[in-house]
Amino acid sequence: MSELFAIFGHPVAHSRSPLMYNHLFDSLHVKACYTRIDLLEGSRLKERFLSLGLSGANVTFPHKEAAFEACDEVRGLAQSIGAVNTIVHEDGRLIGYNTDADGFWYALRHVHHRQNILMLGAGGTAKALAMRLSQEGCAVTMLNRSKGRLRFFEEAGFACFDWESFTPRPYDLIINTTSAGLTDMHYPAPLALLEPTMAQAGHCIDVIYGKETPFLKRSKAMNKAVMDGSEMLLSQGVLAAEYFTQGRFERAVIETIMRESFAF
Ligand code: NDP
Repeated sequence: MSELFAIFGHPVAHSRSPLMYNHLFDSLHVKACYTRIDLLEGSRLKERFLSLGLSGANVTFPHKEAAFEACDEVRGLAQSIGAVNTIVHEDGRLIGYNTDADGFWYALRHVHHRQNILMLGAGGTAKALAMRLSQEGCAVTMLNRSKGRLRFFEEAGFACFDWESFTPRPYDLIINTTSAGLTDMHYPAPLALLEPTMAQAGHCIDVIYGKETPFLKRSKAMNKAVMDGSEMLLSQGVLAAEYFTQGRFERAVIETIMRESFAF
């Protein structure tokens, strides 16, 4: 019998996930199909998941917290982040994971200087990445436009600044996890703060993919090593695919095939 997988989000039309997974399933002769579901109300996620008879799903903006609530069991770092991006249907129960965090760490394996990190933004993605990086022993400093969302990070013991209180200093790596630059041409922080900080950094990463953000463009102009969000997208997908196929295929094989889909 063929299995059905899906990505839930709103909006979701732009998602590359169906391309990635359907190419994988075809190439590995897995009897499965992957579709996208535009879901307005996160509270209806579980009901839709079950009524469609899904074997598994990915969850994207803005439903990751709702997915956390929808699961019967949440495993790994997703528990402390409170956000789930991968759901597996296991013996009638919904099991939740967060592969954004592990995927990002996997994508970072080629970045050697990552001890001292400045993270721009304090939303859901920042939570996942900051917790994972700190688990690996990295020193992570948070810089966010407003104070409100910094509370979680202050309570978790991170050094936190808003635009008012931040003073530029050296970091190995700067990661933009804000949505600045996604649909506009904004920088994730005022240039007066950003430029002197970028000048002293070795590497700059943006989690946004599919376009060159002003942050990434400026980083390149300053001769920094850069990475956009497509590596993170790929890596979280590879780890989710391992869950969907119950570890039947090697990670390197899944990665090679999924990477091919980026050329489509
Ligand atoms: P959230 O809505 O949870 O957080 C958004 C953050 O961006 C907040 O800290 C907010 O600051 C900040 N922000 C928004 N606009 C601006 C601006 N103009 N200037 C400065 N800061 C701003 O979003 P998510 O964490 O869910 O997503 C963030 C980004 O990550 C999105 O662009 C998304 O596409 C990308 N992403 C990429 C993935 C990948 O696989 N590559 C996976 C997941 C997400 P404030 O608190 O002040 O409002």
